[in-house]
Amino acid sequence: MDMFTLSGRVAIVTGGNGGIGLGMAKGMARCGATIAIAARDPAKAADALAELSALGARTAFIAADITRREDCLRMVAETEAMFGRLDILVNNAGILLRDLPQDLTDEAWTQVIETNLSGAMRCCRAAYPALLRAGGGKIINLGSMMSIFGSPMGAAYASSKGGIVQLTRALATAWAKENIQVNAVLPGFIDSAITRTARETIPGLTERILARTPAGRWGDPEDLAGIAAFLAGPASNFITGTVTAVDGGYSVMM
Ligand code: NDP
Repeated sequence: MDMFTLSGRVAIVTGGNGGIGLGMAKGMARCGATIAIAARDPAKAADALAELSALGARTAFIAADITRREDCLRMVAETEAMFGRLDILVNNAGILLRDLPQDLTDEAWTQVIETNLSGAMRCCRAAYPALLRAGGGKIINLGSMMSIFGSPMGAAYASSKGGIVQLTRALATAWAKENIQVNAVLPGFIDSAITRTARETIPGLTERILARTPAGRWGDPEDLAGIAAFLAGPASNFITGTVTAVDGGYSVMM
């Protein structure tokens, strides 16, 4: 067995139409996986599909909003209809809304939790029967440095990403006997649409991140390609419930 092949495997990557999701999708595509990208914006997805096709991957876009249960169910049904099976779910779709806790509206709180935490859970539940039909599978959940650290403007986001870690552990224990491995990845500061907006609006953010990151640089979405391929494939079959930082050392810097 090639420990690192994903040949014959089919993955859904939520929010895979750009940023970290696309970086992870490319890592899995390079190992032979078929990739279904599930997100809301088809225009953004066109470039992502072209990049994945250029790597030789079978790929498709499925329009889905993970805050809607019926979209999550349809996303799984369409993937099985198109590609015959589902082996891997990457819960990457996420949003960041920043505000001081005292100013955070119910609507903003709910939007972040509904997308980042409840959305991931909804996708896991939708995928579960399909993973069972495939004989088991892999779920990769995206946390954040805010799964570990607090931030004055991050009450909703940090709560959602802390919750992702506990959701990962709970599902890992529930589904281990069914050969479903569930792991979380915590990216450090990665150059993507989410952080670009933050960098434009938060004075000194870039300098603070660079000073605190031992690797001395921002991450690139493709820095997540390797961990995705590893956690999606046979090399990680006895690894479940773990939480791995991919952060250039940010989380171990005092
Ligand atoms: P992006 O904004 O580039 O990607 C987020 C993706 O999620 C978008 O492609 C968006 O696509 C999709 N999305 C958002 N809401 C929904 C929804 N309701 N339904 C379906 N898709 C949705 O940011 P990143 O690539 O940086 O973020 C990816 C993940 O990584 C997120 O979970 C984020 O919290 C996490 N992360 C990012 C870090 C960073 O430094 N960049 C650090 C730590 C964690 P569309 O609008 O088309 O739906």
